[in-house]
Amino acid sequence: MSLSHTAPAAASTASAPAVELQGARFAYRAGRDVVAIESLVIPRGETVFLHGPSGSGKTTLLGLLAGVLKADQGAVRILGTDLTRLSSGERDAFRAQHLGYVFQQFNLIPYLSVRENILLPVRLDAGRRARLQGADPLRAADTLAADLDIAGALESPVTELSVGQQQRVAVARALIASPELVICDEPTSALDSDRRERFLQLLFKSCAKAGATLVFVSHDMSLQPLFARAVSLPEVNRASAVHLVEN
Ligand code: ADP
Ligand code: MG
Repeated sequence: MSLSHTAPAAASTASAPAVELQGARFAYRAGRDVVAIESLVIPRGETVFLHGPSGSGKTTLLGLLAGVLKADQGAVRILGTDLTRLSSGERDAFRAQHLGYVFQQFNLIPYLSVRENILLPVRLDAGRRARLQGADPLRAADTLAADLDIAGALESPVTELSVGQQQRVAVARALIASPELVICDEPTSALDSDRRERFLQLLFKSCAKAGATLVFVSHDMSLQPLFARAVSLPEVNRASAVHLVEN
């Protein structure tokens, strides 16, 4: 087992909130802030519905939370670690160890089976693997697949799955080895409303079982009542540039 995950940058503080933004600003182009959030705190274990119209900065904010992007100003503390103080490589390591991310397009690897897609985070990162605490990765993948009703598809290439099944593979991959924070960027937009609700129940159940905090982004307001808390991005985001976008 590699010791690379023991670097202080990848540490997380057990008592800190899952997410804590203070005076966080980000611009793709100088002088045109896309995100400007004075304060946003998400306690651990919460399920948060983050909504706002297209172009309001939802994906950009998730990029800051995941450390894909780095805030120009302010603090972005995830599990007690301020990502703005980490190098790009340290942020990558932190993300791999502590976060699960479900992309809108799922980003599954087409030439790998369902099981190998689910196992990817623990194959790629020693810190994430260590979170299994000695448990068998294959069993962890199979248990998640069973919880998400895709056990029968474990050997299949992901290209043979329906959209709904691919989505559940993406969730299993995000949840393997129990990351503390799970981030989903509009993963339900391709589903009809029955499947959406069923998918969300599975997601909540899996996050609760893993003890994960869930930040779920969507512009579909009908989903809001299913979550413990809702955050309107236009209400918390004071950025100037987002108001120039037509929706
Ligand atoms: P949402 O996810 O709410 O639709 P985004 O975060 O994708 O919003 O986009 C917010 C704003 O940032 C938009 O004006 C968008 O055009 C701009 N933007 C997003 N990604 C980039 C990028 N890579 N480079 C430059 N501008 C971007
Ligand atoms: Mg988006």
